[in-house]
Amino acid sequence: MLDALKKYFGFDSFRPLQREIVEAVIAKNDVFALMPTGAGKSLCFQLPAVLLPGVTIVISPLIALMKDQVDGLNAAGIPATFLNSSLDGREVYDRMQALERGEYKLLYIAPERFPVPGFLDFLERLNISLCVVDEAHCISEWGHDFREDYRNLRILRERFPNAPIMAVTATATERVLADILDQLSLRADTKIFRASFDRKNLLYQVWPKRGAMAQLAGYLEKKKGESGIVYCLSRDSTERMAATLKLEGHNAMPYHAGLEKNVRARTQELFDRDKVDIICATIAFGMGIDKPNVRFVIHYDIPKNIPAYYQETGRAGRDGLPSDCIMFYAPGDRQKYMQFFDDKTPEERTRSIQELDKLIDLAEINTCRRKSLLAYFGEAYPNANCGTCDNCLSTQNVETFDGTRLAQMFLSCVIRVDQKFGVVHIVDILKGSRGQKIDDFRHHLLSTYGVGSDYTKAEWKHYANEFRRQGLIVQDHDHFSVVKVTKKGWEVLKQGQSVMLTRPKAIERETSEAVDLPVTNRTLFEALRQLRRTLAEQQNVPPYVIFNDYTLKEIAARMPVDGQEFLAISGVGEVKAKQYGMQFLSAVRNFRKEHPDAVGIATVHHASREPKGGDSAFETLAFFRKGHTPKKIAELRKLATSTVSAHLASFLQSGEIASLDRLVESWKLTPIREAFEKFGYATLTDVKNHLGDAYSFEDLRYVRAFDEKKQTIASN
Ligand SMILES: [Zn+2]
Repeated sequence: MLDALKKYFGFDSFRPLQREIVEAVIAKNDVFALMPTGAGKSLCFQLPAVLLPGVTIVISPLIALMKDQVDGLNAAGIPATFLNSSLDGREVYDRMQALERGEYKLLYIAPERFPVPGFLDFLERLNISLCVVDEAHCISEWGHDFREDYRNLRILRERFPNAPIMAVTATATERVLADILDQLSLRADTKIFRASFDRKNLLYQVWPKRGAMAQLAGYLEKKKGESGIVYCLSRDSTERMAATLKLEGHNAMPYHAGLEKNVRARTQELFDRDKVDIICATIAFGMGIDKPNVRFVIHYDIPKNIPAYYQETGRAGRDGLPSDCIMFYAPGDRQKYMQFFDDKTPEERTRSIQELDKLIDLAEINTCRRKSLLAYFGEAYPNANCGTCDNCLSTQNVETFDGTRLAQMFLSCVIRVDQKFGVVHIVDILKGSRGQKIDDFRHHLLSTYGVGSDYTKAEWKHYANEFRRQGLIVQDHDHFSVVKVTKKGWEVLKQGQSVMLTRPKAIERETSEAVDLPVTNRTLFEALRQLRRTLAEQQNVPPYVIFNDYTLKEIAARMPVDGQEFLAISGVGEVKAKQYGMQFLSAVRNFRKEHPDAVGIATVHHASREPKGGDSAFETLAFFRKGHTPKKIAELRKLATSTVSAHLASFLQSGEIASLDRLVESWKLTPIREAFEKFGYATLTDVKNHLGDAYSFEDLRYVRAFDEKKQTIASN
């Protein structure tokens, strides 16, 4: 066996599990092998194919890779061939003849060939010694890549009862595994092998998607000259990303399925040869990539599920050297993804959402990400701290505490509203918030109203996620995300089953990076930061405890002259005004003396609200001026409605569009503005929940943009 290994594959020794798998196959056992990409999966059937008499058939859905594999085998001196739709009738006939003459050891087949009349009879005339089902997860509806034609493979056992079946895949949950065993009628004594999915050299991190481009730029600056992949959701965004990175001096290129085949091949080759450092790609990039020195894989947009995340991050660090996997995540990403599920059947949709939610759990947890990732694949990670994920490395140790009482509050509130409301409303009740919806349903009369007011809404939402992860509640995504209590939840409620929770990490202010300052005021901002640092050191506290960056920027922008103006700055309360007012005001005064030309600006400009999308935004504006509705524009331009509304909002704010007339029905204006007064302009979700379904997020966005413009003018 070792001779053949050396002779055909050039290896002196096996990698983990390979020997055991090969031996099991040769002993005519059915085998299931779960091996991550890059673990040497193909060898596990290619070597037995050489050693066994007759032909080994390999069923694979990856037609594009068949030729490469077969070429590779032939080059190694192993006679192999393939049959798939890329061949013409003559070629297929010739190959079948050669197979019948016993000229090949391996035959690769696409699954859609099985129903072709006479094909199974042909296979029966060959001396088949082993049937391999590659990418075996495709057979299961519970897998992420279900393929109808894989169902044809049930026939293998019936037609070739003497040949062992080997199912291999790089991704399978317990449920998928059970399905594979069942669908392929694998024998009860099937040998099951699982290689570890732990990629020890990969550092897993999730970064909040706030000022993401700036964070990314900062990271890439440090990685200049190294190879990496930045995954984006859409073709457009890969193009934009590559252009932006080029402007910042990086050697970057886009890659997506919309590019010409030869352009893609060329790009991949340049990347392989280290002539391009960064590929900005959709998920189309990756099949057949075996570049060893990919130092980072960045998900600028989240992937669709955990197998996809694992596979895409798995392209980093094939050489075993430390490599980074960074995923940007914002809670709103979930909603963004929903549109992709629209054309699916209800069952597929539900499944896709469940799988997406598992990925979101991975992004939201504040315990070990490696442990969760491996748990998804059914692997128990033995250590308490992996040392190579952001949560394990975080100096801020995650504190766990007995949250039974919190869980009971939440669950009993869910019960009291008859399990008919979503998390946001439950939290409103617990917090004792007032609002239309609370009033309408008379929920302020509930015994749970206000019992949770010691915790912030953000904290409650964090705990609600933990309750969901721990299986105490489920959310019905097809019905307004209504929360229901599970059996496990009832046990907590009725029998006081204890619940452990983790405290949320400090929640930063949402707007900190988006503020843009004129150059002169930036000097003041630096001076204020220095002052804050000194004060923080004196008091031995972190700087943000004094004021956060957002507040400092606002001070730098407005340049307050007295206590009154100082108090008007967001983030400045009376206590802090008393404690720090003198020092910060005198810093501003000194600055004014040195820069007599500097002017305070009334409103801080939000950099992110400049017309987004550049030319594309102006194109939207042109359509709008022709009299089209946003919906129509989205349709004509093949853009998401949300993109079009973001364009229009930016023009409302810049004044290019001077009125809300054509965008928001006039009866909505007063309620919307009242809601903004109440909940603030920072987050739309509360406002939306308060107003109900008659109002859309677009309505809110337009009014907010328009009113911001008005305020800027008024205070100037
Ligand atoms: Zn960890």
